[in-house]
Amino acid sequence: MIPETPYYLIDERKLLKNLKIIKHVRDACGAKSVLALKCFSAWCVFDLMKKYMDGTTSSSPYEARLGHDKFGKEVHAYSVAYSQDDIREVSRFCDKIIFNSVSQLKALYSYARGRKIGLRVNPRVSYSHFELADPARKFSRLGVADKKTLSQVMERISGVMFHFNCENDDFRNFSRHLDYIGREYKDALKKLEWVSLGGGLYFTKPGYPVDKFCGKLKEFSRRFKVQVYLEPGESAITNCTELVTKVLDIVRNKIDIAIVDASTEAHMLDLLIYRIAAKMDNAGGSGRFKYMVAGCSCLAGDIFGTYNFKSRLKTGSIIRFSDAAGYTMVKKNWFNGLKMPAIVVKKLDGSVKLVRRFTYKDFVSDMA
Ligand SMILES: *Cc1c(COP(=O)(O)O)cnc(C)c1O
Repeated sequence: MIPETPYYLIDERKLLKNLKIIKHVRDACGAKSVLALKCFSAWCVFDLMKKYMDGTTSSSPYEARLGHDKFGKEVHAYSVAYSQDDIREVSRFCDKIIFNSVSQLKALYSYARGRKIGLRVNPRVSYSHFELADPARKFSRLGVADKKTLSQVMERISGVMFHFNCENDDFRNFSRHLDYIGREYKDALKKLEWVSLGGGLYFTKPGYPVDKFCGKLKEFSRRFKVQVYLEPGESAITNCTELVTKVLDIVRNKIDIAIVDASTEAHMLDLLIYRIAAKMDNAGGSGRFKYMVAGCSCLAGDIFGTYNFKSRLKTGSIIRFSDAAGYTMVKKNWFNGLKMPAIVVKKLDGSVKLVRRFTYKDFVSDMA
């Protein structure tokens, strides 16, 4: 079955490669991995993912509920700021509640009874290529930065979360930062049961020194007698999904421009936010035919990128953008009323299944 474009194509075999590495880390050093739903929440593949991961982590009550309903296992609830109602809601679905500040911890602690309580700590070190995504940026509101403040609430918490990386594929950088955290927070760490090291560690990337990584995590967890958690988003699903589109028109304005039946703003929003080009396999520059590939929204800068193709493009040509899962499907929107890409899964056995089609009804029901 070949569905109509546009569609997101999730390939379970590619996903499995990442999941096996995650499971290997778990087996080798005991670090549990919980999927960060804010990066990827396509629950149609959770049955596969939950065999290799320990649960989910969330940024809101809805995500916590999704984790509980569709993934099961452990549900971590974190939010930058909860309302009282939020805490009541997430308490029904989660095992752990992680507060972002001491004021929230104090104000909402009593509503979270029966759940393990944690606090986000901002270690003031980070790794990120973008200031927008840097948790340790100047005036960061993400986590408690003051050690003294942390020491005053130790009896209320059983764990802490340090989320300080973004696409960090540099093991030595991570190792240095972990040593720093161990030194800086050693008194607190010794009193805790669990420590989450957050997401943003690119340990499923080819060439990453996974065994050294495991050794480092094992040493940390033994030294402080804590259960270590990782919260992979991107590294759980990297390279497993394509956005498959079709060329609708080719226009020329000094250069050749192929217009496809999808849009950056509606279907791959991070390209605009971070000003990067969409990745495309087999279009690395070897071909003779150069095109700017652009979206079909009315935004002037709706551009996926410029690529060298091996053959001339024409109306009807299929263009596949790779690595289209993380922070992509979760951000799709109805800008311009464009057709929403369907969700298609290529199963482990090779069969291809259309799991969700979106229609005009979905567009209408998204607004009132
Ligand atoms: C965003 C986020 C993650 C996931 O980050 P990735 O870069 O996708 O791995 C994990 N934990 C927290 C607290 C986050 O905010």
